[in-house]
Amino acid sequence: MNVLIVHAHHEPQSFNAAMKDLALAELRAQGHAVELSDLYDMGWNPVASGADFGARANPDYLVYALEQRENYKRRTLAPDIQAELDKLLRADFIIFNFPVYWFSMPAIMKGWIDRVLISGVCYGGMRFYDQGGLAGKKAMLAITIGGRPHMLVDGGIHGDLNDMLRPILRGTLAYTGMAVLPPFVAHHVPYIGQDERVSILEQYRMHLRSIDTLKPMQFASMAQFDDKLYPLTDGSHI
Ligand SMILES: Cc1cc2nc3c(=O)[nH]c(=O)nc-3n(C[C@H](O)[C@H](O)[C@H](O)COP(=O)(O)OP(=O)(O)OC[C@H]3O[C@@H](n4cnc5c(N)ncnc54)[C@H](O)[C@@H]3O)c2cc1C
Repeated sequence: MNVLIVHAHHEPQSFNAAMKDLALAELRAQGHAVELSDLYDMGWNPVASGADFGARANPDYLVYALEQRENYKRRTLAPDIQAELDKLLRADFIIFNFPVYWFSMPAIMKGWIDRVLISGVCYGGMRFYDQGGLAGKKAMLAITIGGRPHMLVDGGIHGDLNDMLRPILRGTLAYTGMAVLPPFVAHHVPYIGQDERVSILEQYRMHLRSIDTLKPMQFASMAQFDDKLYPLTDGSHI
């Protein structure tokens, strides 16, 4: 399959970068075609603005999603967006590799999402969740995080990790139609011993060897809602 790794860490010697390097090597060894978007290395511009569009449908008032749709059709998206969109559309499996910043992703990666996951292609109209434009693709987060496992569960000080990551897991990946595999999480990596870190990298290798058997997380299906998006049942299934 075609794999895209979107990586956001400013330090090439970081543990997070070691996870990215391991995934590149392991997935290539498995016979997959792997592309990389190393956002800091590329000097990725994360700011969504009018400069993203070569030909404005409305030069007087910027409606970003509308211009995404129009400029995609006219092939006048900024070249950096078009290049990343082409990589995204080629990919069957996308890994987002990043350190957790403020319960979320680094701004540079958020800016990749904002600018590349364009309206009219990745979502739009009633095309979201299992009807999203990226249906058929798989996505997975590969993250490092300062906290320890017991801090990131229901009842723990920060609550459940998947609740923390909900804007990404649900609001971005599932929303655009991708099957979301459970995240791979490297906890507390700056504070543990070298042996433990080596062992986490080995666990990641095993995780990458089980991609085909990992069960995607469950999210809403459009069939559970009517044409005005009122739930057809009591909503307890979502
Ligand atoms: C702005 C900001 C916000 C943050 N918000 C949060 C938050 O909300 N919640 C939270 O829990 N944490 C948070 N953090 C902490 C952050 O998530 C962690 O510091 C980060 O994920 C650690 O990963 P790293 O790759 O940067 O570690 P690094 O410090 O780069 O690496 C850890 C250690 O691993 C070593 N290493 C590198 N490569 C290898 C290898 N191949 N094998 C073995 N060891 C290796 C390195 O030398 C280093 O000693 C935040 C940090 C910042 C800067």
